[in-house]
Amino acid sequence: MAITFENLHTEEKHQLTDVNYIKRFILAGKSIFTLESIRTGKWFTYKVNKKEFKNRETGVEKIFYFVSILRGTSNDSDYTYLGTINPKFHLNTTKNSKISIDAISFKALNFFMTFLRKDELHDEINFYHEGICGRCGRRLTTPMSVSIGLGPICAGYDNPKEKKK
Ligand SMILES: [Zn+2]
Repeated sequence: MAITFENLHTEEKHQLTDVNYIKRFILAGKSIFTLESIRTGKWFTYKVNKKEFKNRETGVEKIFYFVSILRGTSNDSDYTYLGTINPKFHLNTTKNSKISIDAISFKALNFFMTFLRKDELHDEINFYHEGICGRCGRRLTTPMSVSIGLGPICAGYDNPKEKKK
C-alpha cells in the first residue's frame, strides 16, 4: 500500500511559511517537521534534537543538533539517525549515520537548507510541524503558538511576571 502524505499525517499538520520561524523552529531543541515536495508529492519527516556537551578539561560547551528521519509508519519510534546540522544550516553525515548522502531524504533536507542559508524558501517545498512545540515537545494549544510552532514560554513572549498583574 502506498503511503501518502495525507494518509500518514491523519493527526495534524501545520504549515510554516516564514523563513525565520522555520529556522528558529528547526533549531528549537526538539523539533519534528515534514518537508513536502509540491511537484513530486514526496515528503520526509525529520526530527532535530539539540544536545550540549561540555569538555571536561576545557569547560567549553559545544552544541550539536542531531537529525533523524522518520522511516516506516509509526510516528513515534521509527526514526533513523541521519547526521548533524550546525546553527548555520549545514548538514553533514557522521560515522554513525545510517543514511547515505545519496539518499533522497538526505538530499531533500540538504537542498532545503541551501535556501535557509540565504534566508530563503523554495517555492515548491512546503514545511509542516505537527502541532507540538519545537522546543519542549508539548502540544500547542493556541492559534498563536501553532502559527510559530512554539509555546508561549518557549517562544519567550509569555512573561510570567507580567501575568501575575
Ligand atoms: Zn515548549
